[in-house]
Amino acid sequence: KGVGPRRAAALAELNIHTTRDLLHHFPFRYEQDAGEIPIADLTPGQTATIRAVVTRVSRRQPGLRCTVTDGDDTCHLRWFRQPPRRLPLFRGATIVATGKVQIYQDQPELIQPKTELFDPDADAPAKPRNAQQVGIYPSSARIKSPTIRQLIKNILATPNLAIPDPLPPELLRCHKFPDHAAAVRQMHIPTSETQLDHARRRLAYEEFFLIELALGLRRRKYHALQAGQQLRLTAEMDQRIRARFPFALTDAQNDALRDIARDLTSPHSMTRLLQGDVGSGKTVVALYAALVAIANHRQAAIMAPTDILARQHFNNIQTYLANSRVRTCLLSGQSPRSTRSADHAAIRAGQIDLVVGTQALIQQAVTFKHLGLVVVDEQHKFGVIQRHQFRTKGPAPHYLVMTATPIPRTLAMAVFGDLDVSIIKSPPPGRGRITTRIVTPARWSTVMTYVRRRLLAGEQAYVVCPQIGPEDAADNQPTDNQRAGNQPADTATKSRRQLIAARQTCRRLQVGPWKDLNVGLLHGSLTSAEKEQTIADFRANKLHALVATTVVEVGVDVPNATIIIIDNADHFGLSQLHQLRGRVGRGPTNSLCVLVSRSSSAAAAERLGVMAQTTDGFRIAEADLRQRGPGELLGTRQHGLPELRVGDLVNDFALLDQARADAFDLIARDPNLAHAEHQHLLPAARAMFGHQLALIDAG
Ligand code: ADP
Ligand code: MG
Repeated sequence: KGVGPRRAAALAELNIHTTRDLLHHFPFRYEQDAGEIPIADLTPGQTATIRAVVTRVSRRQPGLRCTVTDGDDTCHLRWFRQPPRRLPLFRGATIVATGKVQIYQDQPELIQPKTELFDPDADAPAKPRNAQQVGIYPSSARIKSPTIRQLIKNILATPNLAIPDPLPPELLRCHKFPDHAAAVRQMHIPTSETQLDHARRRLAYEEFFLIELALGLRRRKYHALQAGQQLRLTAEMDQRIRARFPFALTDAQNDALRDIARDLTSPHSMTRLLQGDVGSGKTVVALYAALVAIANHRQAAIMAPTDILARQHFNNIQTYLANSRVRTCLLSGQSPRSTRSADHAAIRAGQIDLVVGTQALIQQAVTFKHLGLVVVDEQHKFGVIQRHQFRTKGPAPHYLVMTATPIPRTLAMAVFGDLDVSIIKSPPPGRGRITTRIVTPARWSTVMTYVRRRLLAGEQAYVVCPQIGPEDAADNQPTDNQRAGNQPADTATKSRRQLIAARQTCRRLQVGPWKDLNVGLLHGSLTSAEKEQTIADFRANKLHALVATTVVEVGVDVPNATIIIIDNADHFGLSQLHQLRGRVGRGPTNSLCVLVSRSSSAAAAERLGVMAQTTDGFRIAEADLRQRGPGELLGTRQHGLPELRVGDLVNDFALLDQARADAFDLIARDPNLAHAEHQHLLPAARAMFGHQLALIDAG
């Protein structure tokens, strides 16, 4: 009721298409409405209702001001624009007006109040309005919050309004939750803080429950319904593989390997996320898994986000596999066409055991004879864990995704709840400590002069220069895309700006504190060959320092680099700073991280302060989640995070945990959701998250 074509269009812009959508369009905050009070009690900022007599009306285009009195005091009603039509504003009229209170020239005013004639002869005496919470809705220029509130009130006033409850009654009973309809009503027209809080918790739980249910179903599908490749892992194989590594694996690595071994030897496909800080030793774990597959006469593929990283993996792996019979190949964008097609043929024929390359090169171009394991190194990206399609015969390969970005547990649950997760908590032994200092640009020269001494004594440094400007510096992408020509224009501009910043810094250093030092410049516009040359020079200790745009972030590994200076550090998120800092602290020498912050705000200081306090990636990620929220933290629009209307990943962790346990328990008891009490679950999950969780085919 009350929605014509124009309002329908305005609502559609807010993604509201049905009555149900409207009912689930919840206020994002509430304002206290003081109810009907004397003019003397009006307090600025509150919403209040007064009953008063009009003493004066002054129309001055385009607004209107009206003076009213309740016998004891006077105040104004004010409209800024067109005087509302049909308002009962004449001298002597008794009106009831509700609006926001402000003080103007020492006089209280109600701004654009909703105004009605008070009718003393009405059958029922008008009852004074009580204090209440009034919802403020997400709205637009075309449709405002009060209109939306009224439309929702209309719906809620419909007799016999049916709002089915997706949650099974047993769960409601067990958690003492209000039913769905009552909770929805309470969200729109709260009767008390406590009731509102109950309603909000119930709806947040419902969201979490439906997400976890969807993820649980998807997980079940992978586990139970998809044939995997059951591999053998003998004690002898284990020993032979371990003998390849020049060090004993750490306890943390062994824990992860135990999880992986269990997956590989089970009849189901592995779908595992391996989390561990940069330098925690994930590559070795991945290689172990690859060698298990290869020992079972399968092929393995390791996919890296960039050509540089693929090459780095390949080189590391080559040293581990020296003198072994494992046949490896690197698929690089740089290698000549003829080499590439020979490699493809060998992979197709099963003459290559282990392939390393970028995702694009491996996934799109190559047919495998019998692919047994895929390792995806996501590095610092959260990435949606897409199930890549591979050209291979036989059952789906095992799947291991590595990420160096610690993901807070709430986020991991909400986004990756269908994956198994292993975490490498502690790094290999013998690493130096990292000291982090936050400085202002005024100290730049002093810092650089100090660092110069350390460089001359044999250490190496990174200097990271993000572009600063109207756009955020936080998401420079790897450049393979750029070369393939599918880079959005604004990112190209961004990386050009970064380049300029890096060049300037380079020059400033070389005419100033770092005169006579060898400084290399690394940025996104170089070709792979040029980048590689620069990195090779740095690795070979021919360069004292590397001035770089954020490209270093994607995983250059030079243990002798022990100093990192990050310019404009306040422009980065904590998680990204953590990634950058992870470039150092890889060798036995103690490292130094200098964050140069131009911002003098207390908030920025507090934000960066976390970096100085801890090097624990999970603690940093949690702080980042609190500071910037999940969307920002995940850092990409396609992060796969379901959109929550009520639930809050920062504050509702206990609810999420409970919802997950309940959902998984329900799936275990009723995997096909066949029970009558469970019939609303799947439609509700689909309606809420179907497009995001791709669960259309679930169940
Ligand atoms: P990640 O991929 O997690 O960033 P890497 O696998 O590249 O980390 O390992 C970082 C460094 O630590 C490498 O130089 C590697 O040789 C070394 N390393 C890995 N595992 C161990 C271990 N168990 N003991 C000693 N050094 C190790
Ligand atoms: Mg790595």
